Amino acid sequence: MTVWNLGSINIDHVYRLDHLPRPGETLAATGHDQGLGGKGANQSVAAARAGATVRHLGALGPGADWVIARLQASGVATEGIRILPDSSSGHAIIMVDADAENAIVIHAGANRALDPDWLRGACAGIAAGDTLLIQNETSLQAEAARLAQEAGARVIYSAAPFDLDALREVLPHVSILALNEGEAEQLFAAMPGALPVAQMLITRGAKGAEFRDLRSGESLHQPAFPVTPVDTTGAGDCFAGYFAAALDGGESVAQALRLAAAAAALQVTRSGAGDAMPTRAEVEAFLK
Ligand code: ADP
Repeated sequence: MTVWNLGSINIDHVYRLDHLPRPGETLAATGHDQGLGGKGANQSVAAARAGATVRHLGALGPGADWVIARLQASGVATEGIRILPDSSSGHAIIMVDADAENAIVIHAGANRALDPDWLRGACAGIAAGDTLLIQNETSLQAEAARLAQEAGARVIYSAAPFDLDALREVLPHVSILALNEGEAEQLFAAMPGALPVAQMLITRGAKGAEFRDLRSGESLHQPAFPVTPVDTTGAGDCFAGYFAAALDGGESVAQALRLAAAAAALQVTRSGAGDAMPTRAEVEAFLK
């Protein structure tokens, strides 16, 4: 089977500074790193390193060949990524001060410049039994979810960043809604009644994760593996990518939860987001 991912791709620029700039201040950075980020790209890298066949759908601006090369090196198929000559690539300016406090500016750019005709063509190959991952950092996620549902694919929606309008539009086409603890609280406050979705995955950081079947009322709890975290950026994306890859590969929900929790535990012991996703071999060695 194939994991399709309509997902954001961001170039993360991390600037180290003595302090965060004040209005009007010009500040020299003490260091700079450029990395691959965006929830979509992070999830694709995680799913590919988990061993799934992954086809990423999305867009970049010109001059981002290294991003495509980085995704391909992780095993992600990139034919579904368009280069839009009139857009800039999605990017994040991440400023980190000497106390590790941060301030972040994100520009969605090409991630939100997708057009519906292109999407229909890009989703034409989605088949019964495949998996579609979506998040809230692109446009057209509801349309992609509808097309995948019609094709008989499993749709996993990581509803982050939280956006109630997007959620209401996408939810009828979703098989599994994936949220972190803060997003789940926002959802239950905004939609207190029965949710129009069959299954939910809620991750709770170092407290682990829970899978709920809302029809049967059954739930499964997966404890987190005890590790000393270095950087938790992208933990939820690692979990979602591994979970999707495992289900797509025919594994049980319990096994998918265990693999995803082990992968995310390893990921938080490394700095970075997309570049920090562990391989399946590393996860299996960790579980031995
Ligand atoms: P998000 O990054 O979306 O906020 P979470 O913080 O809920 O997501 O983390 C996702 C998963 O990553 C958790 O369910 C857990 O399995 C793993 N994880 C996160 N933080 C830790 C930690 N400190 N120790 C071990 N595992 C962690």
